[in-house]
Amino acid sequence: MISSKLPNVGTTIFTTMSQLAAEVGAINLSQGFPDFNGPQGLLDAAAQHVLAGHNQYAPMTGLPALRQQVAAKIARAYAADVNPDSEITITPGATEGIFCAIQAVVRPGDEVIIFDPCYDSYGPSVQLAGGHCVHVKLDPLDFSIDWQRFTDALSPRTRMVVINSPHNPTGALITRADLDQLAALIADRDIYIISDEVYEHLIYDGVQHASVLAHEQLYPRAFVVSSFGKTYHVTGWKTGYVVAPPALTAELRKVHQYVNFCGVTPLQWALADHMAAHPEHVEQLPAFYQAKRDLFCDLLKGSRFAFTPAPGTYFQLLDYAAIQPDMNDIEMAQWMTREHGVAAIPVSALYQTAEPGQRLIRLCFAKREETLREAAHKLCQI
Ligand code: PMP
Ligand code: GLN
Repeated sequence: MISSKLPNVGTTIFTTMSQLAAEVGAINLSQGFPDFNGPQGLLDAAAQHVLAGHNQYAPMTGLPALRQQVAAKIARAYAADVNPDSEITITPGATEGIFCAIQAVVRPGDEVIIFDPCYDSYGPSVQLAGGHCVHVKLDPLDFSIDWQRFTDALSPRTRMVVINSPHNPTGALITRADLDQLAALIADRDIYIISDEVYEHLIYDGVQHASVLAHEQLYPRAFVVSSFGKTYHVTGWKTGYVVAPPALTAELRKVHQYVNFCGVTPLQWALADHMAAHPEHVEQLPAFYQAKRDLFCDLLKGSRFAFTPAPGTYFQLLDYAAIQPDMNDIEMAQWMTREHGVAAIPVSALYQTAEPGQRLIRLCFAKREETLREAAHKLCQI
């Protein structure tokens, strides 16, 4: 028998719920992905680059044209000046970028603080580096960071902190004041940050994203991660990037070159072309997704679920305590999928230890209007 390096890990909840949805023919609002295509120009550009023969290895660090476009976007969005050659690395998905950043920094015995609930790749990536995760729960009501709990979790072995805003699965936002707090609390310490900002452009109600890229104290010790999959509605392209100061980028690349070496070439060309031609795409995203969130929330007003509209991401949490108070969220998600034809993610799957009594499921609203209407109709009958 092989002795597992990840004995407590099974198949991810995203795979499990998507499979169940397919099996029973439910509307799949579980795993986060759009049910519509990315911009036509982007798709055309990808096809053109494949046909033009851009099908061999890309540079290990990423296509220069794409790194330049990313730097230009960062300058526009955050007034931050990053060097495309020494600070930006294109990775095959944000997940790979996160994994490489963790492997680059975390040594056996190091502690990494992660906030629960969270995206499920952080913990196993830390474990594979020989590190130990210290889980700090977000506030159960508004999913803000409790800085006292964070302070209590710090130890001489703390090596890294992973933050995520806009936050999967709750949609919560980290504010500039939160970033200032974090900076103050780790000021004299040898601690690195992963700032998972894959939903940086999915933020609503006129709020501006507080990026670590624009934080003078935090950026020098940070790996800031984003995903073209989210921003351009092409999650299956698995293309993302990591921005970090030159010394950190050099260490990240040492790992990245042996995990994947490089990202997919024609997709990088297509993204570079599209970003150059349509810099306005990212500015239009908040309104695009806010309309979906508002439609979904309006339709759900007729349901027995309780909720607060998500401030960011394309996920909406629903509280089902008034419907099935005695069901845990895994049972609830399966029952809804099988009996009511709508699949969701049970939030407890993204905690190390579930919040007692919490009755929350996560639904993805990155869907066409007809999908949202059909799903909401079913949800209103529960
Ligand atoms: N971080 C978070 C918070 C996510 O929700 C996702 C989505 N899968 C990722 C990282 C990974 O993005 P990618 O698909 O580009 O690997
Ligand atoms: N980030 C996506 C979600 O939260 C899932 C990605 C995956 O399936 N690994 O739904």
